[in-house]
Amino acid sequence: MEILFMNPVFKQMIWGGRKLADKWNYDIPGDNTGECWAVSAHPNGDCTVKGGAYDGKKLSALWAEEPELFGNVDSDRFPLLIKIIDAKEDLSIQVHPNDAYAGKNENGSLGKTECWYILDAPEGASLVIGHNARNKEELTDMIRNGRWKEFLREVPVKKGDFIQIDPGTVHAIKGGIEILETQQNSDITYRVYDYDRLTDGKPRELHVEKSLDVITVPAKAVEDSVINVAGGAKNEPELLVECDYYRVWKLDVDGAVALRQEYPFLIMSVIEGEGRIDGQPVKKGDHFILPNRYGEANIEGKLLLIGSTV
Ligand code: ZN
Repeated sequence: MEILFMNPVFKQMIWGGRKLADKWNYDIPGDNTGECWAVSAHPNGDCTVKGGAYDGKKLSALWAEEPELFGNVDSDRFPLLIKIIDAKEDLSIQVHPNDAYAGKNENGSLGKTECWYILDAPEGASLVIGHNARNKEELTDMIRNGRWKEFLREVPVKKGDFIQIDPGTVHAIKGGIEILETQQNSDITYRVYDYDRLTDGKPRELHVEKSLDVITVPAKAVEDSVINVAGGAKNEPELLVECDYYRVWKLDVDGAVALRQEYPFLIMSVIEGEGRIDGQPVKKGDHFILPNRYGEANIEGKLLLIGSTV
């Protein structure tokens, strides 16, 4: 049984930069590259398999044609999407719908639950997670009247923080922050506020009404949103989150680990260092899937991985 290595898809964004080339060694399409869709079968960025029996095949096609590789999971599409985001500038303030709202209002799309592992952040960095409105009336007033300073809840973050973002959570990554995102396979984002920026002389579209429909009020407490997972156990998977859509682990390898792949499939991203998996060299920036019934994977070297499954 072979490991499915991925060819990422890159996205140009007004807030993007060059770190995906300079720090990750990716061959990026331009100086405003904001996202690396590392493991994705979404129509807006469908990864292909790198090497092996399925070389060049799209992940969406593999999911449809070889379901046994993924444990015959009952889903009409590959359920997850893994991204690296390099924010040179602040991202817009946004919120995602849940499955029910997206299914009804976005042509049957899935909603979006996502989580972030902070790969790097400058000294004193912060993110927007949640808001300060106490009730729906205050929420509406703050958004309609642009009371952004009062509305937005900024939270300090550092490398190694982990954040779960449920649908309905107002959020935004700020400039200088790099994250690995694990999310449902969805591209539905409602933009609440974009700092009045212009692209080609025009502001980007906002989705105020839909945002007001889906924002959770009051917001979840900060303490329930951000945890620091730097350090921790070595050479054994550490569960970071388990929700209705995914399970995510951190695996800090220093030496050798025998990892049991006992899930429908197991996605892995190397986010630091280098080593080998069952003899094949892997390094920072590599993303791969251990298919169903892969058995035990022997990982050796000094490397940090983020793993996920449904
Ligand atoms: Zn988001």
